[in-house]
Amino acid sequence: MKSYSPVLQDLIEAFKQLPGIGIKSAQRIVFYLLKENDNKAQFLADSIQKSFQSIKECDQCRMYTEEQTCGICTDNNRDSGIICVIETPADLIAIENTMEFKGKYFVLMGRLSPIDGIGPEELKIDLLINVLQQSNVREVILAVSPTVEGEATVAYIASLVESENIKSSRIAYGVPMGGELEYVDSNTLIQALNNRNTIDG
Ligand SMILES: [Zn+2]
Repeated sequence: MKSYSPVLQDLIEAFKQLPGIGIKSAQRIVFYLLKENDNKAQFLADSIQKSFQSIKECDQCRMYTEEQTCGICTDNNRDSGIICVIETPADLIAIENTMEFKGKYFVLMGRLSPIDGIGPEELKIDLLINVLQQSNVREVILAVSPTVEGEATVAYIASLVESENIKSSRIAYGVPMGGELEYVDSNTLIQALNNRNTIDG
């Protein structure tokens, strides 16, 4: 590491902190930006600075937005009676990209994990309950990952939703489209069997 100048070292270290970026990738990005003169580097620096100044969490669903309330929450064409609870903004984008879901969202920004100090407060469950009480919500869909923490999160939120006399459901887990049964792990196969659907027609 001695061959880097101090500023170069800091810049490479900064990129190395990003997910999926190791030392080699960080070095490649930094050398690319420097070689391309300051236009791209300046644009990147400006974009990062601007986004940190303007992007915050939506006051209804916690999705990142420059507004107080995001475009999805303020869209009157969407059904505010159905709230889909997800863990991350990336999950919201993934569901939006299917173009199937026309309800609204709530982003937990994580899942319950007492070991990491993540409890109901960090997930802003109070805000979710507020939204449920203020809008005429009929159903809460829990689209949380089927991990140990995810299951705990689902159980916790489902009991609160139930106490508000609102139906809660969770997304089905099972065999991926185009997947071969023999390669599916037992737990997923059990879930798929339990969540089987009647064939229409
Ligand atoms: Zn929102």
